[in-house]
Amino acid sequence: MALIVQKFGGTSVGDTDRIRAVANRVVEARKRGDDLVVVVSAMAGETDRLVALANATSPDPDPREFDVLLSTGEQQTIALLAIAIRALGVPARSFTGVQLGMRTDCSHGRARVLSIDASRIRRDLDRGAVVVAAGFQGTDSDGNITTLGRGGSDTSAVALAAALGADVCEIYTDVPGIFTADPNVVANARKLDHIAYDEMLEMASLGAKVLQLRSVSLGKQYGVRIHVRSTFEREEGTWVIPEEEVMERPVVSGVTYNRNEAKVTISGVRDTPGAAARIFRPLSEGGVVVDVIVQNVSEDGRTDVTFTVPRPDLGRALEIAEAVAAELGAPRVSSDESIAKVSVVGLGMREHAGVASRMFSALAEEGVNIQMISTSEIKVSVVIEERYTELACRALHDAFELGEERTASEEQGLPAK
Ligand code: ADP
Ligand code: ASP
Ligand code: MG
Repeated sequence: MALIVQKFGGTSVGDTDRIRAVANRVVEARKRGDDLVVVVSAMAGETDRLVALANATSPDPDPREFDVLLSTGEQQTIALLAIAIRALGVPARSFTGVQLGMRTDCSHGRARVLSIDASRIRRDLDRGAVVVAAGFQGTDSDGNITTLGRGGSDTSAVALAAALGADVCEIYTDVPGIFTADPNVVANARKLDHIAYDEMLEMASLGAKVLQLRSVSLGKQYGVRIHVRSTFEREEGTWVIPEEEVMERPVVSGVTYNRNEAKVTISGVRDTPGAAARIFRPLSEGGVVVDVIVQNVSEDGRTDVTFTVPRPDLGRALEIAEAVAAELGAPRVSSDESIAKVSVVGLGMREHAGVASRMFSALAEEGVNIQMISTSEIKVSVVIEERYTELACRALHDAFELGEERTASEEQGLPAK
């Protein structure tokens, strides 16, 4: 008998018919004899609706109360799913984050899971009940409700799987697995059978929202086997597993995009030691996470510094940048919200040269101008005009032949370094 954590996302529990379909699937698994912890998100659109309600009430909602409000989305679905499972004659009990003993730090809106009291869940599992757990929410040491950031139910599920030593964490969603690119943007994207934790970490951090970044890092840390698969179809999905177990190692395995960043430029910064520290220290102290940074070669002792920040933090970033610019005698601060970051990711890049140049050529052929570039061991990212996002994703997907089934020799791809 296995212990399985199943997580169903917002679309999967989007209305009561879908909740009943999920209940059927859960009961089927239970009847095979497995112990089940089922984590659910809020119904599709519900979290957005709650966010809009809070923002309509105040331009700057209190973070503690914001989390109290947002957590109600998942509280609805746990109750509805438990009702639906019980209606099929199988015992089930719902648990909010507090009831699960899901302890987090106190960073409202982006809390990190610290520990889980598994004893309460085990008691119900031992009695033969299906445990239906609210995703996305926890409680800090003072008993305040916290939420784990958008997409956080993935993290709740993986954290529960780690705490319970589950055999597998199944992430049920509206696509059949993890693809070479977002299948809703690139029509010929190919489903991957396996992906290594590190590759998925990179894809998630670069915008592939199929798994929340933190869920992948927890999965890697605790060795949780994650299986991303379709709620609506039966076929196997994609396994996220340790690198040693991934047989194929294409140079590029995926293309991702992120439309949630904005660009800030401080022009005419005096090019002296310490200038960068004076710009980026107050930003980090202000809780603004800076991503790509570019500094130009200086002319006449002055240079331009451009960086990207999460779009929701642009207002705060600009306030800080303007204050710093005044201190540094830099005459101008400008910003651009209509940018996107498009990236190619692959473990095989460690051993192969030529990925960046192939990427730049493919974009050039489509007339897409590159504004910023950033690379790491297993990814190359470019910042481009937002309106070219889809075009760039498709062009790169084709350039790296990701839509094709590759043969072993093609797998070698580019010449070795
Ligand atoms: P859920 O509500 O089930 O958590 P999400 O909307 O958070 O679902 O994540 C699933 C979505 O992730 C898909 O509908 C797809 O548009 C998007 N996505 C982005 N990149 C990828 C990728 N590489 N593979 C699969 N899905 C992706
Ligand atoms: N309901 C939350 C969200 O929409 C958490 C989740 O779905 O994972 O982000
Ligand atoms: Mg999600």
